This record gives sequence, C-alpha cells and structure tokens, in this order.
Amino acid sequence: MSQSKHSIWVFADYRNYFQNRVTLQLLAKANDLATGMDAEVCAVVFGHETDEYVAEYIAHGAQKVLLVEHPSLNRYSVEKFTVLMEKLAGDHQPTTILIGATSFGREFAPRVAKRLGTGLTADCIGLEITSEGHLLQIAPSFGGNLIAEIITPDHRPQMATVRPGTFQELPHDNTRRGEIVRIPLPKKIPADRLRLVAYERRIDHDQRLEEAKIVVCGGRGMRSKLKFRKLFELAQLLSGEVGATRPIVYAGWADDGALVGQAGKHIKPRILFSFGISGAIQHTAATTDADFIIAVNKNPNATMMKMADVAVLADANQVCSALIKGLKERIQAKSDYSE
Ligand SMILES: Cc1cc2nc3c(=O)[nH]c(=O)nc-3n(C[C@H](O)[C@H](O)[C@H](O)COP(=O)(O)OP(=O)(O)OC[C@H]3O[C@@H](n4cnc5c(N)ncnc54)[C@H](O)[C@@H]3O)c2cc1C
Repeated sequence: MSQSKHSIWVFADYRNYFQNRVTLQLLAKANDLATGMDAEVCAVVFGHETDEYVAEYIAHGAQKVLLVEHPSLNRYSVEKFTVLMEKLAGDHQPTTILIGATSFGREFAPRVAKRLGTGLTADCIGLEITSEGHLLQIAPSFGGNLIAEIITPDHRPQMATVRPGTFQELPHDNTRRGEIVRIPLPKKIPADRLRLVAYERRIDHDQRLEEAKIVVCGGRGMRSKLKFRKLFELAQLLSGEVGATRPIVYAGWADDGALVGQAGKHIKPRILFSFGISGAIQHTAATTDADFIIAVNKNPNATMMKMADVAVLADANQVCSALIKGLKERIQAKSDYSE
C-alpha cells in the first residue's frame, strides 16, 4: 500500500452516529493538523455493513479509509478491536492515532497504546503541531488546575483521546473522494470472553447539550432545587438545553449529563445564559466557545460576570422568573393575534 510520509488515523466510533459526532470532529482536526505536512488523513473502520459510515467519513474529510469488515465485528468489542488496531498499526505505521473519548474510546485507547509501546494523552481539549513536527497534546491536569502540553518525542504513533464537542466537524461534501482499503479479518482474532446479554440505549441528554444553540446554565446562586427547576422551563421556552455546575449535579438538582466543565461537557452555544455561577476555571474552560454570554449574579466581581457580554447584577431566580413571564406573554400575544 502506498503511504504518505505521515498518516493521521482517526478511529471510527459510529455507535449512536447521529448524536455522537466525535469521529467527524476528529477528522476535521486531523485535516487541520495535516495541512502543511505530508500527511494523509485516514479513518479506521471496524464493523459489519458499514458502507454508509465509510461514505460519511469520506464526505467529512477522510482521504483514506482502512476498513475491516466481518460479521463477527458487528458489535464493538474492546478485546477484538484492540488486537485489530495493534495489527493494523504494526503493518502501516501511522504517525498519529486519534480516538474519541467516548466510554468505548476511554477503554480501548490505553490498551492499544500499551500494546504499541507508546504514550497516550487522555481527554485532550486541544491538538497542535509543534515547530519540530510533534503532536502537541493539550489536556487538563492536576484536577483541572493546570493545562498540560504533552509531546511524544521518542515513540510512534502519537496517541490521544479527545472529548466529544472539542472540535467542529467539516461540512458534509459529497464531492470529496477517498480511497477505501479493504483489509481481511486477520486469522488470530480472539474470541470474545464477554457475552452480551442485553443492549439498551441510554437517552443521551449529553449530546443535545453539546450541540445546543441556546444553553441555560445554573449554579449555586439559584439557591434551591425548586428554583433551579425553573431553568428547565426557561430552556424549553427558548428551545434550549439546561447545563449545570458541579455542586448542582452533586446536590442532585440536575443529572450528570447536564454537567458543564472540565469533568463534564464542552458547550458551544450561540447564547449562553449563566445564572448564579461564579466562573471557576473548571467550569469556564468548557464555555469559551459560547458566542454570547448573559450572566446573572449578585456579585459584580464574579469571573462569570467579567466574562459575560451582558452582566446583570441581580437575583438569579428573579431574573429567571421574569424572563419566563415575559416569554409566555409574548407567546400568548402571538397566539391571540393569529386567532
Ligand atoms: C477536579 C475538579 C473538577 C471540577 N470540574 C468541574 C466541572 O466540570 N464543572 C463545574 O462546574 N465545576 C467543576 N469543579 C468545581 C468548580 O471548581 C467550582 O467549585 C464550581 O464550578 C462552582 O459552582 P457554582 O458557580 O455553581 O458555585 P459557587 O462557586 O458557589 O458560585 C455561586 C455564585 O452564585 C452567586 N450567587 C449567590 N446567590 C445568588 C443569587 N441569589 N442570585 C445570583 N447570583 C447569586 C455568587 O455570587 C457566586 O458567584 C471542579 C472542581 C475540581 C476540583
């Protein structure tokens, strides 16, 4: 197989394809990293009847697809996929392997790295190329108090997992062309030691939050669970989603999927409402891509107020209630007018 000098591989995680776009986001970033280098961007697909995903990956920037298709790969298996990835990487020597930090990716990537005898930076929030041509892997460290910049100078491939929502996918373009390399299933693939008894898809609140154009985020300044619930009503009126800080999730006022921050979701809404949130770095690190921030806080010196485009010095609950009332009146007025 002909190879460019460097190849950047993106492991294809197509489970829950429409909600989880991390593979497409990584393909976009891989294209960005490949610019200016003699590198090809390659999606690595394991599975069965994957044609539509392969076409999607090419339309989203994969110049090549390494495809291992077999009925026995119809379900994601850490054991099988690890052996496959080890074999393929051994045969084709990629420079870089990027994997989405999904529940599967977080289990799969370290096993692959161990077998290939290389390093892995988990949960990256940024990737760049250094002047020496190394992959700069940017990830929160020491509980999010530091941002570490990590390189893998002596080993290849360079490996990183990346949080969903960190990068923007390329627009779908049917005119893009890519080479599909079909690789037969190697003979020595282990049988699954795990037996799947049942499979149930969890309703994924998380992805909706990451993709939402309007996010209504609340913190301890909402004061009580009852008052916090009003944010759901406001979000519904605005066709948005609710996000929360860690104390809110810990208190059980919102579920885990609503957590915004270093330990939760990275959001990129057009408008972010921030009610009663101080603006700790662990939270704001995941809100930097918001286009427009409206913060409500009683403390004018709160970091969130300083970051905001509009800072409202007021009680969070009162402002939330007033917005709900105003929106309902507008909706009512519109329906009166149309009758
Ligand atoms: C390892 C680690 C990881 C973490 N990861 C995350 C994470 O992913 N996401 C996250 O959010 N946090 C995370 N945290 C916690 C983070 O450090 C902060 O403690 C948290 O974000 C603070 O949440 P808060 O703003 O709701 O609360 P507070 O910091 O207590 O702020 C409450 C704010 O409400 C204001 N306020 C009070 N009353 C009112 C009122 N009536 N009206 C209006 N405003 C009012 C106050 O002035 C204050 O600014 C992490 C911490 C660690 C150590």
